[in-house]
Amino acid sequence: MSIPTLEELHALGAAQQPTYTNPAARDAAVERLRGMPPLVFAGEADQLREKLGAVARGEAFVLQGGDCAETFDGVNADNIRNKLRVLLSMAVVLTYAASVPVVKIGRMAGQYAKPRSSDTETRGDVTLPAYRGDAVNGFEFTPESRAHDPQRLLEVYHASAATLNLARAFTQGGYADLRKMHAWNSDFVRNSPVGAKYESIGNEIDKALAFMDAIGVDPDEFHTVDFYSSHEALILEYEQALTRIDQRTGDPYDVSGHFLWIGERTRQLGGAHVELLSRIANPVGIKLGPTTTPDDALAYARALNPDNTPGKLTFVTRFGAAKIRDLLPELVEKVRAAGVQVAWITDPMHGNTFATDNGYKTREFDDVIDEVRGFFEVHRALGTWPGGVHVELTGDDVTECVGGGGKLVAADLTHRYETLCDPRLNRAQSLELAFLVAEMLRE
Ligand code: PEP
Ligand code: MN
Repeated sequence: MSIPTLEELHALGAAQQPTYTNPAARDAAVERLRGMPPLVFAGEADQLREKLGAVARGEAFVLQGGDCAETFDGVNADNIRNKLRVLLSMAVVLTYAASVPVVKIGRMAGQYAKPRSSDTETRGDVTLPAYRGDAVNGFEFTPESRAHDPQRLLEVYHASAATLNLARAFTQGGYADLRKMHAWNSDFVRNSPVGAKYESIGNEIDKALAFMDAIGVDPDEFHTVDFYSSHEALILEYEQALTRIDQRTGDPYDVSGHFLWIGERTRQLGGAHVELLSRIANPVGIKLGPTTTPDDALAYARALNPDNTPGKLTFVTRFGAAKIRDLLPELVEKVRAAGVQVAWITDPMHGNTFATDNGYKTREFDDVIDEVRGFFEVHRALGTWPGGVHVELTGDDVTECVGGGGKLVAADLTHRYETLCDPRLNRAQSLELAFLVAEMLRE
């Protein structure tokens, strides 16, 4: 397999790309990126593909989560650690409930570029380019900040390296101790208004841990965790420059992250994103929205996983709570009937976004949970495996999604609405989601 050139990719047509007005500056940034060391190793991507193979076979479950859009300002210890903690404590509950390994993947260390529904944003009588994520331009509403700057791609690289470095230290250095991570769940059960509902599963985990203590079981797995990075592979300049031939196998890997996905707005068959991700050996995902036909899904599988290797391809469905029960069955049925090996994950966020009367983009916690429930119902009815959840979350007590145990309402969104893009579940909402999904896994 060879790496397509940037020219070849652009010739195929690519949606949602920056417009760089200074080609020399763009080429210089791409050249610099080509010289940078890999952010992740091909062997790690292989490991993740193996683990996702277990998901495709119904033997493991995925938890994938993080910000809608990471920001350069957010690259600090507190922010990264809080996100890791909430993800890992969610993973404890899910592992216990699922009785299978939970594959932990951050929407982290590279999630800096955003597709937008409009190229421009208007405030009053001023119209400027839309914010496309820190990888492309700044959030500040000025012409200078909103200009597309290729130098930012280098900053994405450095921000991702710093984030990965802390994530590796946190998950491998003994800080991600299972008991400490579960202590977060216990706090949640004690302090959340709805915590009591989850007391029994919390207590069961306490007892299991106490039992293992008593008999002196203390495996390495209690002190370290395997954690992988992922982001939407959106900006061709960045992803192509970080696609390298692996010396061991001779195959191309995109070394910007372990797992890359194609978004709902860039999944054109024959387009540049599908082409680039069809050439790499990393495990890849593709978001499937309500307009996806079964034939589309089969064509994606042929393009992205021609050898039908379990774990290579993940379908991330994001239909919305109102549509999933109607639209998912036919898709799953036809994909299964064709013998396609795929891991199915639900993204219960992106089909459930709406604007409040006071002008905030939000999601209702009950809709998020309802889509996950619909996903479980459909897969259970068809005998396929509901392989995981993909969520936008943060470890902080933000107020961006309404509902949940804290019963946040639209008026509360004014307090801590910090996302620059889509609304995220806060810490308590994330833990509550984990307990609710744990219940679904045990039903
Ligand atoms: C996202 O994951 O932030 C996103 C834009 O999702 P989708 O491509 O599914 O709309
Ligand atoms: Mn989003």
